[in-house]
Amino acid sequence: MTAQLNARGDVAVLVPAAGAGLRLGPGGPKALRLLAGEPLLVHAVRRIAAAPSVRLIVVAAPAAEVEAVRDLLAPIAAVTVVAGGAERQHSVAAALAVVPPEVGIVLVHDAARALTPPELIESVAAAVRSGRPAVIPVLPVVDTIKEVALDVLVDAAAGPEAADGVAGQLDGARVEVVVGTIDRSVLRSVQTPQGFRREVLAAAHAAGLGAHTDDAGMVERAGVPVSCVPGSELAMKITRPLDLVIAEALLPVA
Ligand code: C5P
Repeated sequence: MTAQLNARGDVAVLVPAAGAGLRLGPGGPKALRLLAGEPLLVHAVRRIAAAPSVRLIVVAAPAAEVEAVRDLLAPIAAVTVVAGGAERQHSVAAALAVVPPEVGIVLVHDAARALTPPELIESVAAAVRSGRPAVIPVLPVVDTIKEVALDVLVDAAAGPEAADGVAGQLDGARVEVVVGTIDRSVLRSVQTPQGFRREVLAAAHAAGLGAHTDDAGMVERAGVPVSCVPGSELAMKITRPLDLVIAEALLPVA
């Protein structure tokens, strides 16, 4: 069934999916990789459309794929599909350009986080609505994190107990060695959607603040405070084959 977006909602969700590899069909890029027979982009858009504050969903697709992506998403919800740009941030800017001025909250989402629950979309939007200019969902870092550097091993590095000959084999090899252990209590793993007051995201784009892997990085560079809300395990990024297996197992509860 086609979802009805809330015509009185105050949120637009942008989904940049215009990476050069985007092709419909098997063996394509991650936004169109199949999960239980449907592309990740379809799963993602279905959950965005189920968030009650969402008025508009804009997907940026490669220029040659705009019609195909529009057809793919038409049965899911009334999604606006625009042609993306050369870099991810150009695709976000192209999607932002079609958001009408009366929509005050803009979220940028990643199609690879296909099982992101509507509740997370709402909690990011609510935090922006409460007056925070930029909001990201985060999870604590559970692994121990080490800083490493490349170093050249010498004989002594193999240690006095090394079996005969091992030290000699390693001598001169370039390996990663630990420089230090980072205090993980101050680290967070960042998810999407990332939410912004519309004018904050627009200003960061207008300022052309260089290449960033996320939109909050651009806004941070502009000196705007970025605050956090709790993320969701279900908003995992589905990129590796193991992630697809996990996502498939999660589908009944996601
Ligand atoms: O290439 P990368 O993994 O950083 O891309 C992240 C997301 O940005 C992907 O969903 C990709 O489709 C999108 N993208 C885009 N326009 C580009 C390049 C990437 O929308 N020109």
